[in-house]
Amino acid sequence: MQSFQFNVIGHIESPYKEKFAIPRQPGLVQNGFGRLHLHPPYNDPNAVRGLTQFSHIWVLFVFHQTMEGGWKPLVRPPRLGGNDKMGVFATRSTFRPSPIGMSLVELKDVTIENNQVILELGSLDLVDGTPVVDIKPYLPFAEAITTAKAGYAQEAPSEDMQVIFSTQAQLECEKYQSRYPGLASFIEQVLKQDPRPAYKKQSNEARDYAVHLLDFNVRWRVTNNITEVFAIERNEK
Ligand code: SAM
Repeated sequence: MQSFQFNVIGHIESPYKEKFAIPRQPGLVQNGFGRLHLHPPYNDPNAVRGLTQFSHIWVLFVFHQTMEGGWKPLVRPPRLGGNDKMGVFATRSTFRPSPIGMSLVELKDVTIENNQVILELGSLDLVDGTPVVDIKPYLPFAEAITTAKAGYAQEAPSEDMQVIFSTQAQLECEKYQSRYPGLASFIEQVLKQDPRPAYKKQSNEARDYAVHLLDFNVRWRVTNNITEVFAIERNEK
C-alpha cells in the first residue's frame, strides 16, 4: 500500500475546547471565529504574501482526535438521524481511511505577532489544537457551483432548538461582556445547532449537558425541545 507523509504547517486556536457541540460545518455559527498559527519554517511572511486578497480559504487539516478510531465503509451521518447508513466517501465523517478534513473559512486578516504569522479566521468547525497540513485560497469561479446536487445534505441543517438563559446565566454573560463581547449570542448560536447525539433527541426525558467553550464550562438542560443555559462557569487557569 502506498503512503505519504505530510508536514504539519500550523495549528488551529478555536473556542471549541472539546469535540462535543462543535458545529458540523464552518459558517453554521455566524459569530464563530478562530485563528490559524503557522509553525516554523512555514511562518515565513513570504509564504502568505497575497493571501489577504482572498476573503475565504480552504483549510486542510488532520482529524487528530478521531484518527485512532480507524474507519468503516459504512457510517451513519447525523443528518439522517443516526438511522441510515452511507458509504464513508459519501459523508464528511471524521472516521476516514485518510483522516483529512477540509473547511472553507473566512480569512479576516493575516497578522504578525512576535515573529508569528497568524491567520484570523471566521466561523469554523474545528477543535482547539487541530493540526493543519495545508491552506489554499478559495476560488469561487471554480468552486461555487450553485446548481450542484447535494443529496441528503442539500440544505443547511435546520436550527429549530429554542435557547433561553436563566437569570444566573444572563448575569454571568454580562459579567464577562467586556472581555468576551457577544458571549451570550455565541453560546446561543452553538446550542441552537442542538449538539445532542441523535439517539438522545428521540427521548423526551429532561437531561443536563455541559461543554467547554472558550474559557467557560457551559451547562444547559433540554426539556421538551427547549434548551435552557443555566450555568456559565469560568474555568480556573
Ligand atoms: N468541514 C470539515 C470537512 O467537511 O472535512 C469537517 C467536517 S466534520 C463533520 C466536523 C466535525 O469534526 C466537528 O463537528 C467536530 O465534531 C469534529 N472535529 C473537529 N475537529 C476535529 C479534530 N481535530 N479531530 C477529530 N474531530 C474533529
